[in-house]
Amino acid sequence: MITERIAALPLLPTTVVGSYPQPGWLVDPEALKQAGVPRLRAKGIWRLSGELLAEGQRDATVLAVHDMERAGIDIVGDGEAGRESYSNQFATALEGVDIETPGSTIGRYGQTTLVPRVVGPVRRVRPVIVDEVKFLRAQTDRPIKVTLPGPFTMTQQASNEHYADDADLAMAYAAAVNEELMELFAAGADVVQLDEPWMQARPKLAHDYAVPAINRALEGAPGTTAVHLCFGYAAIVKDKPSGYSFLPELEASTADIISIEAAQPGLDPAALAALPSKRIMLGVIDLNDPKAETAEIVAGRLRAALKHMPAERLMVAPDCGMKYLPRDVAFGKLKAMAEGAKIVRDELGR
Ligand code: ZN
Repeated sequence: MITERIAALPLLPTTVVGSYPQPGWLVDPEALKQAGVPRLRAKGIWRLSGELLAEGQRDATVLAVHDMERAGIDIVGDGEAGRESYSNQFATALEGVDIETPGSTIGRYGQTTLVPRVVGPVRRVRPVIVDEVKFLRAQTDRPIKVTLPGPFTMTQQASNEHYADDADLAMAYAAAVNEELMELFAAGADVVQLDEPWMQARPKLAHDYAVPAINRALEGAPGTTAVHLCFGYAAIVKDKPSGYSFLPELEASTADIISIEAAQPGLDPAALAALPSKRIMLGVIDLNDPKAETAEIVAGRLRAALKHMPAERLMVAPDCGMKYLPRDVAFGKLKAMAEGAKIVRDELGR
């Protein structure tokens, strides 16, 4: 549901997809690059350990929130300051998953990737990011948005050695995600987003079982929900197709918001017409462009989208997580995004 708190925001509300650059004193950027997008743990990226690491992650969250507020972002996040990747913190916290003797899969870009081995029933045995969300809630009065890896994507990032087929594994992941999601809303989250970039990479499998798994993960959600899809990090994927192989199917999901990368691939905004009941969180910031966009470039991208959908359903975001950008560039991009949204909001006269 779109809650009152979200509905009360100005037209074209701005937000982030997920990550924000982590400070150099917290994460070693070279080690982060070496780690790729880890499916297991990547403890070597952290410059701190023990209690100091926990304190550093909280302090980095404060910095991320402060930057987002200063840039003028309406719905803020924690920048995923305490994460090694968008998905591994949750995926490696579950029971039934062996990360000590991992399996391997063929990654999104054709490379062999070490992944968790599913060796028993997947269960969430403890809260995973509930404390982080309580901390984030205490840092800001603005609405907050948090992310969890989606059940379809987690299934693609695992080696299934327990369930009869991958659709069953996806439903087990979905039940675990749902338990966490309910506690995140109870902890004060306004929007919970499932990250499902692998639907684009594996459209045939997505067609077979992604939407039922997403709907199971979102079942009974007492707040606003989103699903994010994209073509992969700009830092890794340079050539992107200009259309999605799995998008209209999400009209059948129960998510309120669909978050899509659109700026870097030059998505034809006519594609947005396929999701008439959804709010669209449109990517208007190209994360492969090393300079910040101007507000006018952002405004142009929003005007193009508004030819295909009403302003009431349009939300404004970067294409994807921003963690691989220098922090000053990420800040400049968010600021331009907020200013560009304001230009168009003023033109609409509402
Ligand atoms: Zn993404």
